[in-house]
Amino acid sequence: MEIITDILSLHARLKKESCIAFIPTMGNLHAGHLSLAKIARKKASCVVVSIFVNRLQFSEIKDFNKYPRTFESDSKLLINENVNVLFAPHESDLFPLKQEFFVEPPLFANILEGEFRHNFFRNVATIVLKFFNLIHPQIALFGKKDYQQLKIISAMVQQLNLPIEIIAGETIRTQDGLALSSRNLYLSTDERSKATRLYQVLLEIKIQVESGSKDFQSLQNKAREILKNRGWEVDYIALHQRNTLAPAQANVQDLVVLGAARLGNTRLIDNLEISTKI
Ligand code: AMP
Repeated sequence: MEIITDILSLHARLKKESCIAFIPTMGNLHAGHLSLAKIARKKASCVVVSIFVNRLQFSEIKDFNKYPRTFESDSKLLINENVNVLFAPHESDLFPLKQEFFVEPPLFANILEGEFRHNFFRNVATIVLKFFNLIHPQIALFGKKDYQQLKIISAMVQQLNLPIEIIAGETIRTQDGLALSSRNLYLSTDERSKATRLYQVLLEIKIQVESGSKDFQSLQNKAREILKNRGWEVDYIALHQRNTLAPAQANVQDLVVLGAARLGNTRLIDNLEISTKI
C-alpha cells in the first residue's frame, strides 16, 4: 500500500489505473469502514481510501480537535485489506485558498441531520466532490450507517452526471446491535451499556411497521418517550421514504426509520431499512 499525502503524487500514481474504487473516511477505522474496503477489493483493480478529518463538517472546533486520529493503526488495517493507496492530504493542500464554492444540495439536506447540523451536507458534498475530482474513481463506496449522506451523494452523482457508480455498504454492528462508529469511543462504560437502546427502539418500529402497523406517529412518539425516560436527549426518530427521504406514507413500500439522540455528551445516529407490503 502506498501512503500519499500530496496531490501531484496522487495523480502520478493513479494516472494509469482504469478501475478505481474509492472510500472516503475520516479515519479511526473500524470494521464498518473495512467492510467497504472488502467490497471495493472485489470490484476494482485499484482501491483508494482517503483519511481526512474535514473541518467543515464540524460545527464546533472542540469536536474537530478531539476527533480520534489513529493514523498508524488505520494504515495497518488498510494494508490487511490489500488497499492500494491511502490518500491522507494535508489541509493546506486540499484547501490552498479559502473554499468559497460549495455544492448546494437538494432540500432534503435540510431535514433530519441537516436540521441539527447547519450546512452539514453542503460541506460533505463539497469535500466528496473535491475528492472525486482528484481521484476520478469509477466506483465510490458509502455506508448506510450515514443514510442521508448516502442519499445526498447518490443524488449529486446522478444530477451532476458524474460517471461514478455509488455502492452502499450495510451497517456493521456490535453483537448487541450498536452501529460501529468512531464516536462510540466517547461513551463511558455505563453509557456504552445503554447505547444499544437507540438500535432497539428503531428495531421495534421496524418490526411493528413490517407487521402492518400504519400509525407511524405513535410509533415515533413511543420510541422518543422510551429514550427520553432513559436519559437520552432525542433529536429525531422518524420514518421516511428510502429514496427521497420524504416523510413516510402508509401507501409507500420502501421506508427507513432514522434516529439521532445524545447520551451524555455523545451524539449517536442510526437507521434501519423497512420492507413493507402494501
Ligand atoms: P466516517 O469515517 O465516519 O466519515 O465514515 C466513512 C464511511 O464509512 C462512510 O461512508 C460511513 O457511512 C461508513 N461507515 C461508518 N460507520 C459504519 C458502519 N458501522 N457500518 C458500515 N459503514 C460505516
